[in-house]
Amino acid sequence: MVATQDWHPAPHGSFAANHPGKQPGDTTTLGGLNQILWPTHCVQHPPGAAFHPDLHRAGIHHVIQKGTDPAIDSYSGFYDNGHRQATGLAELLQARGVTAVHIAGLALDYCVKFTALDAIKLGLTTTLLTSGCRAVNLQPGDGDRAVEAMRIAGVDIA
Ligand SMILES: [Zn+2]
Repeated sequence: MVATQDWHPAPHGSFAANHPGKQPGDTTTLGGLNQILWPTHCVQHPPGAAFHPDLHRAGIHHVIQKGTDPAIDSYSGFYDNGHRQATGLAELLQARGVTAVHIAGLALDYCVKFTALDAIKLGLTTTLLTSGCRAVNLQPGDGDRAVEAMRIAGVDIA
């Protein structure tokens, strides 16, 4: 079991608070890519970046921290949003002979979606555990559209 963890430096470019005049939900350009601006979240070290205390952590073998580069966001657990830097997750799974993954978490329409799409591209048999996910739903229906995009890409929806 691998957990991913947003681990943002305080000046991260995805935070609306770091862009004067911008609000969460506004967009900008970051690392040459379109970027939705988020509320400040998961700032490195507890309490901001801590796992929720109710998360069953006993079975987690490895934690992949992502979003550490302030100049680019990282939704997927495998790569940053520009696919420029890998997190090491693909190599970790490959080294352990993992060929199938089950994915759950937050947020369904961003980090979960892009992690699942990358898993498919990497040739992993990929199952989405919908009951363990929640969407941001910046636009109504974003979560449903994310599930559909994953299904079309070959993700098993469970
Ligand atoms: Zn983040």
